Amino acid sequence: MQTADTILMGNVLVLDRPGSTAEAIAIADGKILQTGSRDAMAALRGPSTWVHDFKTSTLIPGFNDSHAHSDSLGLKTIRSTLEDARSIADVQQRIREIASGKKPGEWIVTMPIGEPPFYWNADSFLSDGRLPTRHDLDEAAPDNPVCIASPSGYWGEPPCFTVLNSLALKLNGIDRATKPKVDGVEILHDHAGEPTGIIVERNYTRMAEPDLLPAVPRFTPEDRVEGLRRSLAMYHDKGTTSVYEGHGCAPDVISAFRQLHETGELTLRSGLVVSPAWVGTSEAEYAMRHWLPWARGRGLGDDMLRISGVFVGYGGNPQFKDLLKKDIGDLGWGGGLASVNSPSDFEELCMLAGKYNLRLHTLASDKLHEVVPILERVAQHYPIGQRRWVVEHISKASPRDIASLKAMGVAVTLIPAHYLWKVGHTFANLSDEQLDLLSPARELAELGVPVSAATDAVPNDPLFCMWVMLARQDRRSGKIMGPRGVLDSDTALRMLTVNGSYLTFEEDRKGPLLPGYYADIAVLSGNPLSASPEGLLDIRCQATMVGGRWVHGDPA
Ligand SMILES: [Zn+2]
Repeated sequence: MQTADTILMGNVLVLDRPGSTAEAIAIADGKILQTGSRDAMAALRGPSTWVHDFKTSTLIPGFNDSHAHSDSLGLKTIRSTLEDARSIADVQQRIREIASGKKPGEWIVTMPIGEPPFYWNADSFLSDGRLPTRHDLDEAAPDNPVCIASPSGYWGEPPCFTVLNSLALKLNGIDRATKPKVDGVEILHDHAGEPTGIIVERNYTRMAEPDLLPAVPRFTPEDRVEGLRRSLAMYHDKGTTSVYEGHGCAPDVISAFRQLHETGELTLRSGLVVSPAWVGTSEAEYAMRHWLPWARGRGLGDDMLRISGVFVGYGGNPQFKDLLKKDIGDLGWGGGLASVNSPSDFEELCMLAGKYNLRLHTLASDKLHEVVPILERVAQHYPIGQRRWVVEHISKASPRDIASLKAMGVAVTLIPAHYLWKVGHTFANLSDEQLDLLSPARELAELGVPVSAATDAVPNDPLFCMWVMLARQDRRSGKIMGPRGVLDSDTALRMLTVNGSYLTFEEDRKGPLLPGYYADIAVLSGNPLSASPEGLLDIRCQATMVGGRWVHGDPA
């Protein structure tokens, strides 16, 4: 009989079926050897077996964050932070310190003003009751161009703000006559009509940079590798062992994952999707036919890094399209290239993806009622369910659309914290019945649609996401957003752990703590199945294991 390398004891949630628990897990060669009682596991003990008793802690399958943005979290630590600044004087002091380490003319680009991870209400956050202006920044760093960068609108909620000093305005060619090319971006002016240095962004997609700020340094490929390196630790710290990046990844981002995998540093099982840089449907067909055959089906890769399928966006502001293509090297905070497609182009791209057997991922947001009929037409020609096409970011949904997703067999990933908690108040006009189907985890689960839940990285905490699915509370009013949609703990925890393996065709080897499955485990300070919804917020991840190796909180 094979003996175990490691035996872990504690309160084990197997998550293969409701109520399945154990007292211990035996692990060999990175996989689960057996799960059962302490006595039964003791029989698998050999002379070199390492045994650890976690006592009252709970061991669960590692979290699989199915829409994680794992590349961007660490990037937020690359630029200097202003998070401790509470006044304009604090901001100036911080900029002065940064400038003292720079040569004249060197760029200073900082993180936004406000409190991470949301950076809400940056314009009233400082004790002065306003943002700094170009003149405030000039005082701190007259000889360096300064840019206080805007967060992504998806982190918190627009409006978001960029602040530039005079030199930075000049280098970007912004003067009193400059006008933004796209809606939703505004250059603020003083009484004399001169730019104050503040640029307001009201779009979720970050347009101020491609529109107005060509001179502000972008993240380099090296920044992206270092950002990803830091991200890994930040995800393991939350008990996350796998991610799926269904929003698509641009070549630079895929390359960063590849590099860390090659050096053995990639400890997060990563499923990536290609975010293509094609212009128009004829270029798309060329790419699908001649360049992307390797991304068909399960794609290429191994148990740590796998790349398959394509991301194709639906809708979006057509004004953005040309601008984004011009600044294609700039991915900003997102891992994918922003993709703007008219409904007819989207349908054509779907048909092409069907024809060339590429698994398609798209973001529905509040347009599920427009996306579903298109997918229905594609499904008449191609087996999109069998190929596991994915619909992400669903906000509003109707019973008809949900039934259609089930009939087509497509998979769904949800980001409950964004729609229910963060921007729940924007759905105030929905009826009670419609609210029950906002981010419709329960409805989808009851119908048997393959559905998993994700953090969208804001914050990257699966237990917070689980709390949202159980509480469904709008952050502003505390209102319960559709009581009928409230999920039970068991279903919610599955959506955040075992369900995600369907997205990478790994449900036979990743997920529940069963023999032969990867030894991917999160050790939690409390039991998320018996905790109250609020109690989930007090649970901490004490240790994380990927493939039998400790990647966080090594108890040895
Ligand atoms: Zn996202």
